[in-house]
Amino acid sequence: MNEMNRIAYVLVLILAIFLILMGGIFMIASGIENIVTGVAMLGVAAILFFFLYRSERIEASRPRLISQTFNVKMGGSGQLEQKRLTCRSCGAPLEDKDLKVVQGGVVVTCPYCGSVYALEEAPKW
Ligand SMILES: [Zn+2]
Repeated sequence: MNEMNRIAYVLVLILAIFLILMGGIFMIASGIENIVTGVAMLGVAAILFFFLYRSERIEASRPRLISQTFNVKMGGSGQLEQKRLTCRSCGAPLEDKDLKVVQGGVVVTCPYCGSVYALEEAPKW
């Protein structure tokens, strides 16, 4: 799925660049129809770039979450004793799988008492 998105992204990017090149050629060529065609091509290219920009922003936010989760896992296994987390309600020890990294913080789901809450400050991994 991710790989397909990447391929689609590259194809649309190539298409947009192609349209800009063709649009430029049409605009340089004399004749009112050619200029109109060139402007239309540049317009389509601009729309494609807009969608690419949007999808890039979505893609950019995704790997960040993965790397954060990775860091949590690394921190959990690396310094287990020091960074041990316990449930705020019942005091049960929490594992990495009980933590969920979301934007701006860590959500804890306690497997013992079932309470769900967000850590107020990000733990120093
Ligand atoms: Zn608990």
